[in-house]
Amino acid sequence: MASFFGHALTSIAIGNGFSNTQKNFKFWFLGVFCAFLPDADVISFKLGIAYNSFWGHRGFTHSFVFAILLGLIITFIFYRKNTSKIKYFLFFTLCAASHSLLDAMTDGGLGVAFFAPFDNSRYFFPWRPIQVSPIGIANFLGERGLRVIKSELLYIGLPSFVFILIVKIKNRFLKK
Ligand SMILES: [Zn+2]
Repeated sequence: MASFFGHALTSIAIGNGFSNTQKNFKFWFLGVFCAFLPDADVISFKLGIAYNSFWGHRGFTHSFVFAILLGLIITFIFYRKNTSKIKYFLFFTLCAASHSLLDAMTDGGLGVAFFAPFDNSRYFFPWRPIQVSPIGIANFLGERGLRVIKSELLYIGLPSFVFILIVKIKNRFLKK
């Protein structure tokens, strides 16, 4: 995984790209939730499920099918009566999918099962500049944590910030 902060920041950047959606606490909270939920699968380690299996870490919960299902479920529960359902569905799906894309750019662990359940192979991108984040807060302290934060600031924080800035400038410019 990238860290919680890396995934949360990405969902905030994505959310900024959606105009005409009501951006309240519920919107952001659910976006961050979708961006982080795929890592609920770390419980598989405790349950003795093999890392490289369908239910293992970075398995099905990191697939595009899961991201689409999650987007559908969250939209259905929280935005059923909204007239822009498609936008919310897209937002939540992208938040979940962004998690898997970031994980595939980390330098450790096994790859991501993007295409599960159709193909359970694990994939990485050829370019993997993000230091893999340790699991658990205690492991986050110290030198390794610092390296993770540094790589995420550079490869997640900076692009997110630039993206948000471009959207803000564009919105301002278009309104005038
Ligand atoms: Zn993950």
